[in-house]
Amino acid sequence: MSTGTVQYEPVIGLEIHVQLSTRTKMFCGCELSFSDPPNIHTCPTCLGLPGALPVVNEQAIHFGIMIGLALGCDIAERSLFHRKNYFYPDSPKAYQISQYDVPLCLGGHLGDVRIHRVHLEEDAAKLNHLGASGRIHGSDRSWVDFNRCGTPLVEIVSEPDIRSAEQAREWLILLRTTLRQLGVSDVDMSQGSLRCDANVSIRPAGTTELGTKTELKNMNSFAFVAKGIEAEIERQKRLLAAGEAVVQETLHFDPITGSLTPLRSKEEAHDYRYFPEPDLVPVLATEGMLAAARADLPAELPAERAARFERELGLHADTARLFAFRAELGDYFERALAAAGANGGAGLEPAELSNWIAPLTERIGSDADPARSKVTPEGLAALATMVKAREVSRDAAREVLTLMVSEGGDPRAIVEREGLGAISAEDDGLGEIVDRAIAADPDAAEKVRAGNMKAIGPLVGYVMRETKGRADGGEITRLIRERLG
Ligand code: ADP
Ligand code: MG
Ligand code: ZN
Repeated sequence: MSTGTVQYEPVIGLEIHVQLSTRTKMFCGCELSFSDPPNIHTCPTCLGLPGALPVVNEQAIHFGIMIGLALGCDIAERSLFHRKNYFYPDSPKAYQISQYDVPLCLGGHLGDVRIHRVHLEEDAAKLNHLGASGRIHGSDRSWVDFNRCGTPLVEIVSEPDIRSAEQAREWLILLRTTLRQLGVSDVDMSQGSLRCDANVSIRPAGTTELGTKTELKNMNSFAFVAKGIEAEIERQKRLLAAGEAVVQETLHFDPITGSLTPLRSKEEAHDYRYFPEPDLVPVLATEGMLAAARADLPAELPAERAARFERELGLHADTARLFAFRAELGDYFERALAAAGANGGAGLEPAELSNWIAPLTERIGSDADPARSKVTPEGLAALATMVKAREVSRDAAREVLTLMVSEGGDPRAIVEREGLGAISAEDDGLGEIVDRAIAADPDAAEKVRAGNMKAIGPLVGYVMRETKGRADGGEITRLIRERLG
């Protein structure tokens, strides 16, 4: 059997842990804190001392319901907590309280990826492993910080609907933007308040049966998630091409070396011996709680905003997503759009205006917030309107934008000061320059006359150079064709 020509389709499902920004922990009154000295936010409950009883944090339930509603899940009227038993120094009780077979939220979707479930649980303590190079207090032991122990978490589990590393990265950004807008978490991957495990398998393209998956643990940046998944897809392809099988196992991705090393295989997988938490009553999501969660949802979530940008404003799908997932770009664009409307707009289409955001971010740094630049949304709208009205050529407008980025100000004033206004046929002798271009390159002129429109390039280029980009390309082409029949 030859596998050399088989095309494989990646199949990816994500499991995301999100720390909720409640005031206190999931089952006790200890404050959440991530910057305080270790082990000062503890009590008998989160230290697992005998006899201490957990009490559910209502704000965590509220946040969980908000997340479920935002993702279109069904919220269970009654959900349960279980004990997930395991022995490790990050868990003083030797079990984690988590939801198991009856979670708070089931179903739903975010963008085009379906949600399997969303459930509540508690975080473990933080282990600080100090290697030989990181000795502290003269030893190289591991240190436990119980401040994190009992922090409320939601786990969001997607269906295996993702088909590429890049789609996984983009979907995670959408999820982060959504959670940030809900105000339920810091969603900072570098601080661990958003953590992602990726389940990866491949299958022959066109088939529907799922292949054996591996699980990549805890990649702590969007870029690493994409790199890790990419590396794992390639590793699985190599295995299958060599006639070997993918083994179900948990892998650790090292972003520095790009290597994937097994943490544990399925045979070693834990049996967590889940059983219902006897110290907690079921979580009842009442009508009142649902209404309160609904009232706290923002008017428009990022996925809805992307859909509106695409459908109602006619933006390119990629642009629509970019503006919605990076809310600061969307906000800036919408302010510019409002200003363009007030300007009269010269019939400027939203999509035409949107094309000016990329040149702006190129100039201010791709991660920068344009609202913090010297270019106001009104200024950008005015510039786009001037281009649309052919008062300034596209090339000259780019120059104007560069000046606006460095010194701010009104584009009209800059155009005037720098003499960058468009040269038009009527008043600026553009026709004469066109005549010179034709005289300077009789070869090209002859070809255009003979109907070879590709030959028009050098003629247009000549005029562009002569006018320092101030003439409109369409106008130049029109004048050349007029002269050459
Ligand atoms: P487990 O029991 O190992 O946790 P689940 O069925 O609960 O597995 O799924 C966990 C995650 O793995 C989900 O995000 C799911 O979408 C994803 N997943 C399940 N099967 C596959 C597969 N064959 N390939 C890729 N992802 C998968
Ligand atoms: Mg799992
Ligand atoms: Zn506590």
